[in-house]
Amino acid sequence: MKKFFILMLMIFALICSGCSSSNNNTNSNDTVKIEVLDIGQGDASLIYTKDEVIMIDTGDVDERDRLEKLLKERNISTIDKLIITHPHADHIGGAYVVFKNVNVKEVYDNGDATTSKTYQTYLKNIKQKNIAYHQLKAGDTVDFGDGVSFKVFSPTEKMIKNDDDLNNNSIVGQLRYKDFTMLFTGDSERDAEQNMVKSYGNELQSDVLKSPHHGSRTSSSDDYLKTVKAKDVIISLAADNEYGHPHKQTLDRYKKYNMNVYRTDQDGTITITTDGSDDYTISKEK
Ligand SMILES: [Zn+2]
Repeated sequence: MKKFFILMLMIFALICSGCSSSNNNTNSNDTVKIEVLDIGQGDASLIYTKDEVIMIDTGDVDERDRLEKLLKERNISTIDKLIITHPHADHIGGAYVVFKNVNVKEVYDNGDATTSKTYQTYLKNIKQKNIAYHQLKAGDTVDFGDGVSFKVFSPTEKMIKNDDDLNNNSIVGQLRYKDFTMLFTGDSERDAEQNMVKSYGNELQSDVLKSPHHGSRTSSSDDYLKTVKAKDVIISLAADNEYGHPHKQTLDRYKKYNMNVYRTDQDGTITITTDGSDDYTISKEK
């Protein structure tokens, strides 16, 4: 009888190990993991909650092979939500390989359109694959599952209508998991920052800041940094890039506000792990 019981227990354990989650890469415990990928001059982040895998931006066209490799290494077969902050190539360029390799359930962007082939192919993929498509604007909140939310602070509808600066119209949103917060910023610029400080004030306060526009001097303005009050900032960029990112003025401002600076060109992929308390960890690949 005892042997039979142990055998049943073993069979049960075996069955359960194969069915713990419908998505093979969501987090199995109560931690949320965020990876700011080392993807050259561009942005691409992955967020793993207990229920979902979310991707924000996809890197540039010339980094497609690398993105494909990174997705394969991580065994990612489903992305529940893909958010494109704005349609510039260094953010939308890898969408092609995401659609090719991964089952994308929903796509979110700011509604700004361009005539580029990369953008047109992106739209075609969404249509052909019949993917649910949404446009985000300030005030919207997206549910990432298991108590993780993403609140959008920018752009406003007015900005999308009147401002043809694609960078400035980037989706800016705050990921919140209990007490932990991280601000994703795309390539938003000073104008958008001023607007957000005025409209949202202390709501912008976040533990971690994804450096806007790869550490450009035209973003990370004083008032914004003072309001966001981030302890850590992560810059996504390539070494020796043609724009001179990160600009010295920006690094000086980060220093002025005592922020710890992480950069993908020096540190590789940067991983943030949090159980929802203030006490999160940041680890570097290199
Ligand atoms: Zn960019």
